[in-house]
Amino acid sequence: MRVSVLASSSSGNSTFVHAGGTRLLVDAGLSGKETKARLAAIGEEASQLDAIVITHEHSDHVAGLPALAKNLRIPVYLSRLTAPLIDWGEMKRGVQPRVETFQAGSAFRVGEIEIETFTIPHDAVDPVGLTFRHEGLKAAVVTDLGYIPENVKFHLRGTHLLLLESNHDLDMLKVGPYPWALKQRVMSRKGHLSNDVTAQFIEHDLDACAQTLILGHLSENNNYPALVDLIARQAIGQRGLPVRLAVAEPGRQSEVFTLERGAGSAG
Ligand SMILES: [Zn+2]
Ligand SMILES: [Zn+2]
Repeated sequence: MRVSVLASSSSGNSTFVHAGGTRLLVDAGLSGKETKARLAAIGEEASQLDAIVITHEHSDHVAGLPALAKNLRIPVYLSRLTAPLIDWGEMKRGVQPRVETFQAGSAFRVGEIEIETFTIPHDAVDPVGLTFRHEGLKAAVVTDLGYIPENVKFHLRGTHLLLLESNHDLDMLKVGPYPWALKQRVMSRKGHLSNDVTAQFIEHDLDACAQTLILGHLSENNNYPALVDLIARQAIGQRGLPVRLAVAEPGRQSEVFTLERGAGSAG
């Protein structure tokens, strides 16, 4: 299984997941052109994608979706309640996106990848986290949530690669430039994860089988990649886990992380 985070921040989210002969795009927050450019930078072609899976309707996750879906003519998987919220814009005659809806909490398969969806606490209509399984390997994408409830922890058990939100430093947020209402929104139980909450998850709940932990969806106003790296490293150190840590950069795609069975696990 191979995963690359093409973008992860408050201004655009998209992740590439490849296993067996199946290639998925998770969220489409970049423009069609930028998505193609970043796929090309990791040696992939947008035309080879089999499907797009969407976590929720916020624009940083769907801004490029109408253009990509029209252009690539591949199925788009959305939750039943999220699907009606997408503005597909002008459609040429006969060019309708192929929308496949799922019930949040259900599982389905796309090609060779088994996908599980689960509800996350966020101020969207029906937001989901996602796990991807192929031949005993499991990857997960969990961003945009105000806290980490038990059902999310449950779904993250046995995850070998995890893209997890580490959105803001609480002190930076409090003294930062956002208006008070927005600060409250970000801090709320339907907002975004702070660095400290993410560190607590690493210390207490990150599965010992995790090979790669990518922290993402960093706020560009209320966080620093170096701070995220430092806090997470301390938490990983507390646990003594052999996990590889990466912090997603907003402006460029990550390297391609390759997962291998039996590697990185101390049991
Ligand atoms: Zn977001
Ligand atoms: Zn969101």
